[in-house]
Amino acid sequence: MYKIDPHTHSLVSGHAYNTIKEMAEAACKKGMEVLGITEHSPKMITLTTDEYFMNFRAIDRNAYGTHLLMGVEANIIDYDGNLDLPDYILENLDIVITSMHWQCYTAGSRKDNTKAAIKAIEKPYTVIMGHPDDGKFPLDYEEVVKAAKASNVLLEVNNGSLLPKSFRKDGKKHCIEMLNECERQHAHIVVSSDAHSDTAVGEVSYAERLLHDMQFPKELIVNEDRMKFDSFLKKL
Ligand SMILES: [Zn+2]
Ligand SMILES: [Zn+2]
Repeated sequence: MYKIDPHTHSLVSGHAYNTIKEMAEAACKKGMEVLGITEHSPKMITLTTDEYFMNFRAIDRNAYGTHLLMGVEANIIDYDGNLDLPDYILENLDIVITSMHWQCYTAGSRKDNTKAAIKAIEKPYTVIMGHPDDGKFPLDYEEVVKAAKASNVLLEVNNGSLLPKSFRKDGKKHCIEMLNECERQHAHIVVSSDAHSDTAVGEVSYAERLLHDMQFPKELIVNEDRMKFDSFLKKL
């Protein structure tokens, strides 16, 4: 288990099962330093609205013992990498993850998907490209990793993609392909639980095993180094 888990969901995401407080308390109990609360954005069936993401001043980030990052997992909605929240909201969040979800994005060719991913990565507020491992949306990893490195964006190793019951397509195979490219280009990655319940907070054992088996360089994993992780945040 790492000290930082940047990507989790609370009740508000519509298909997750605990409150922010319960998620934060679970992280604190596990001795974690940083927890990202990154709800799905409005194009998914969620309870979130633009206003929801505009009022995070209401949340005391340090009330529960683990520092909270209040952000979003925004939907990439087209091949130009557009997202389903306006820039003026996204640039004020603690953390922005951009992801492709079948509910909000229609898979194109490898070239189309790669363009969409790169355009989303290049947005000035993007911190993490979420689960770039789903075979439903094939990517050119050489190009995506190059863009992420150039824009100081982290590529995610998503524990949820590696679960045997994952609904993503060939997540492990694509994750390995991406990690090999990250090692070759010396690009940083972040491991996340993508927890949708409090018991899954910080739970990344499949990702840890894969990184261990691949002997992936520890210095490229930001989860144990708060300063290194913080250097990827766009809003400090
Ligand atoms: Zn996602
Ligand atoms: Zn998620």
